Amino acid sequence: MARTTQTIEERFLARVDQCGPDECWLWITTSTSAYGTFRLDSGRYVVAHRFAYELLVGPIPDGLTLDHLCRKTRCVNPAHLEPVTHSENSRRSAVALWRRPQQNRTGAAPRAAARSPVFDWAEVEQWAKTTGRIP
Ligand SMILES: [Zn+2]
Repeated sequence: MARTTQTIEERFLARVDQCGPDECWLWITTSTSAYGTFRLDSGRYVVAHRFAYELLVGPIPDGLTLDHLCRKTRCVNPAHLEPVTHSENSRRSAVALWRRPQQNRTGAAPRAAARSPVFDWAEVEQWAKTTGRIP
């Protein structure tokens, strides 16, 4: 049986559009899923950005999820990933949505708040809960 000489790192990085260290490294995929998936030698599939973080940085602390600081779910640049709690991740996603222009969001939120760099978290949280953005 033929054995591949490629290491798992090489196999993984071959599927990443690796740009500069500060730019987004987008996972090359034909999948329509928000996150990239990578098949390990064992046949198990892993989420691409989590695999990139563990490969290039180290283990993700127990119970933590990786937040995309760039908000691009297909980005696997570890510099753009930060381990946070699930609730912190939901909170940040809600804030990112809140900041988008009104027409791109569902659920009513005041336009002025979407443009302002300063916002009232209690108000964002209430909006996020009523629109189902966070539980
Ligand atoms: Zn990125």
